Amino acid sequence: MKVLVLNCGSSSIKYQLIDTENKEALAKGMIERIGMSSAILTHIPAGKEKIRIVGEILDHTIAIEYVVAVLMSKNHGIIKDKSEIDAVGHRVVHGGETFSGSVLITKDVMRALKDNIELAPLHNPPNIRGIEAAIKHLPKTPQCGVFDTSFHVKMPPRAYLYGIPYKLYKRYKIRRYGFHGTSHRFVSKRAAELMGKPIQELKIITAHLGNGASMAAIDKGQSIDTSMGFTPLEGLLMGTRSGDLDPSIVTYIMGKEGLSISEANTLLNKHSGLVGISGESSDMREIEQAMNDGDKKSKYAFDVFTYRIKKYIGAYTAAMGGLDVVVFTGGIGENSVPVRKAICENMEFFGIELDDKANSSVAGECEITTKNSKVKVFKIPTNEELVIAMDTDKIVSKLKS
Ligand code: ADP
Repeated sequence: MKVLVLNCGSSSIKYQLIDTENKEALAKGMIERIGMSSAILTHIPAGKEKIRIVGEILDHTIAIEYVVAVLMSKNHGIIKDKSEIDAVGHRVVHGGETFSGSVLITKDVMRALKDNIELAPLHNPPNIRGIEAAIKHLPKTPQCGVFDTSFHVKMPPRAYLYGIPYKLYKRYKIRRYGFHGTSHRFVSKRAAELMGKPIQELKIITAHLGNGASMAAIDKGQSIDTSMGFTPLEGLLMGTRSGDLDPSIVTYIMGKEGLSISEANTLLNKHSGLVGISGESSDMREIEQAMNDGDKKSKYAFDVFTYRIKKYIGAYTAAMGGLDVVVFTGGIGENSVPVRKAICENMEFFGIELDDKANSSVAGECEITTKNSKVKVFKIPTNEELVIAMDTDKIVSKLKS
């Protein structure tokens, strides 16, 4: 089956056309600066030359029209007719408490997505616009939604409730939702395959470390806790987000600096985290470079980042009553040798024995602990698009049977 995977942001759309038979991307690309006069479409067809087109793309409807057109284009296309696209799989950020798995998009689902807008005001509206645009251009093609939150929906109340009046949870749905679910699900499943054991027999901690970063405790294949919360701001230190902090700090800074609610939001989401502490960059490569050049604040940022992950490993091991596997993924998790080392060092008492040589290898997917290490640590490149394509394939195949 050929599945068009769409990840629609407010001003960008990432896409891949995936052949679910051999799990390969036939083409991938991205449109940036939607709504601006010089939008950029970058299209990379497998085995053909990459192209870049600059033009005016005013909204998501026009953007999806471009995506379908470039997939069919004579020189850079990969299909002859849009009927060759068997299904569309959409990444949807927030499914609230409604969706515990991926779904076929129907009118009822669209209604539920709109009901969840308040929970993800930045992410769900462009996701919805993308779905509506795809339905417009591919009206006969089944469309499915795969949610960032659904993998975590079944965590127990002790993990998802906050210490605020229960009636506020009921009234405003304020609870831990967690995000990056597609990635945590993919790498935990892959880790079980690498261990050669059923996932039902494993206690796994996954660390998705990208610009946004989160961890999950996965017991018997089920996410039982995760570090992001009501929004993706909670938990680990991130590129520009603060992660965990004493809530009183927010009102204190607002008073001292005379910040509005929206300014406080921007401070915590855009100017905190690695960039906030270092004052240098939100990019881990630049933090490592500056730290190696002797910059003290970049070292603080690196230390807070890695220390917090170490603490969560301890917490989640206690929550699960044991630990078999740790997985690193995301841009930092997959690529940063120093980050993985700082997290795993001095953890022998814990059953983690890092193999420095394996940790330094550039190979994509590999174990980075020694043969004797009781707890196994892997780095596994994530592939959220493939999960979306495979979930979509499963839903659509059932429709046909
Ligand atoms: P996003 O969350 O936007 O998808 P990515 O998963 O691509 O982000 O991760 C981006 C992060 O990965 C950046 O902080 C970047 O510095 C970091 N990164 C990528 N390659 C390396 C590397 N070789 N060493 C350290 N960090 C890296």
